[in-house]
Parts: sequence; C-alpha cells; structure tokens
Amino acid sequence: MLKDGLNKLMSHPNSERMPVLFIGHGSPMNAIANNSYTRMLNQLAGKIPRPKAILVISAHWMTEGSWITEMESPKTIHDFYGFPEPLYQVQYPAPGSPEIAKMIRETVVNPKIHPDTEAWGLDHGTWSVLKNLYPKSDIPVMQLSLYMAKPAEYHIQLGNELSKLRDKGILILGSGNLIHNLRRIRWEEDAKPYDWAIEFDSWIKERLIARDFSAVLNDFQKTEAGKLSVPTLDHYLPLHYILGASNSSDELKFEHEELQNGSISMMSLRLG
Ligand code: ZN
Repeated sequence: MLKDGLNKLMSHPNSERMPVLFIGHGSPMNAIANNSYTRMLNQLAGKIPRPKAILVISAHWMTEGSWITEMESPKTIHDFYGFPEPLYQVQYPAPGSPEIAKMIRETVVNPKIHPDTEAWGLDHGTWSVLKNLYPKSDIPVMQLSLYMAKPAEYHIQLGNELSKLRDKGILILGSGNLIHNLRRIRWEEDAKPYDWAIEFDSWIKERLIARDFSAVLNDFQKTEAGKLSVPTLDHYLPLHYILGASNSSDELKFEHEELQNGSISMMSLRLG
C-alpha cells in the first residue's frame, strides 16, 4: 500500500513547484518531424511534474496590450504559408480553461492582462512544440500575448508576476528562438550554421551559465553577431518571461542545443 501510494505521489507530483521552459521552435515542420529535437521534446515531459495547465508565451502572438486566451476550446491556428499540406491538417485540440485564465489574470496584479475570448487560439509557436511534448493534448493550454511596444523591463516584470503560478501546477513555457534570422535562412535543416550564429549561441550559453541574466536580456543586440541573430524581437522576447519567472535557486539545464537552417537556434532550456 505504502509503495502504491508513493508511486502515485511520484507520478502525480502536482504539489511540486513547476519548472519554467524556454523552447526553440524553429520551422513549423518540427511539429511532424522525427529528429533529435522532437525526440528531446518527447522525453522532456517525463522529466518534469505533469502540469495542471500550460501557459505558453509564443513569439507568434504580438499585440497591443497583454492578452490571455480565455476560451473553452482554443482553435489550432495555421499561421504560416507555403508549407506541405499535411502540416495544415495538424490539429492540437487541447482544452482551454477560462477558470484558470481568470485566476491568472487575478494573480497578476501589474501589468493588467486582458481576456481574449475569441480572437486567438493556439498558434504554431504553441502547437508545434506541444504536439511533441504532450501529444495527447489532454492538458488545458492558454497563450499569453507579447505586448510588442513595451521595453524589456515590462516583459521581465510580467514574467516575475507569473512565477507565482509555478506553485499552482502551471507550466510556463516560452516558445521562440534565441537566434532567428529568416533573411539568412538556409532551407536544409542541417545546413552549416553561420559564424555569427555560432558566436551568438555561445555567448548566450556562457552568459546564462554565469547567471548574467541582465546581459542576456539587455545586451543581446550590442554586437554584430547579436544584431544578425536577433534582427527582430518577437522570437527573443519569450525568454524575458522565462528568466523573469525564474529565481536564483532554479537549476539551469540545457535540454537541446542545435543550429537548424544555418540561422535558427533550437537552444531549449529548463530552469527548476
Ligand atoms: Zn516562430
């Protein structure tokens, strides 16, 4: 009996503090691919407590104001063009949870988060990752938008507010890419990475290991390599939320390191 009880506790450790994740998502094709990155996602779910709900900050939902999806059944959005037909058939029918979304809005005092009951759903920044991480789509998922006009401090502060959710069984997942230059993209997934991408990837890793989060969140465009790696903020900003939601006692683990298509970093990390 005791052993059963223990097993049960270990397989449903909902009371544990949840880690936070930053996942590089890259091409939407990763949703249906089988490669070292998708296999990493397949295995990651087993390494962390099963969440009660997932809150994704995706690079692909850019808004005026901060919004959270607050709907029972968020739709799967195919927000890309020119990809093979099977990718448009992919659905990720995870439920939403208006109750949890409301709780999140009430937990975050400042800044204000607005409820979105119909405009958005789950974009590919969310479902291309979750399709591999939780393929059964049986955990409620919500998205939080990126208020693009705001400075770094806003996103870090909001991430910090969200950290309270980690004790409520909610997995906070930032989905973007630390290096994301579509103009320089090489279409073969295993294309040789650019020197500047290699340089910036190492800089990020080194600064993260040194826990110099301030440099990572503020100084990323100070070098030529940084400017080429982060030409626009959308794919980088989810990191601000994840580092903002972390604290000094969180162990940092690099779950995946890879440069796909020459100019896309798939670096994915876990804190806690
Ligand atoms: Zn993307």
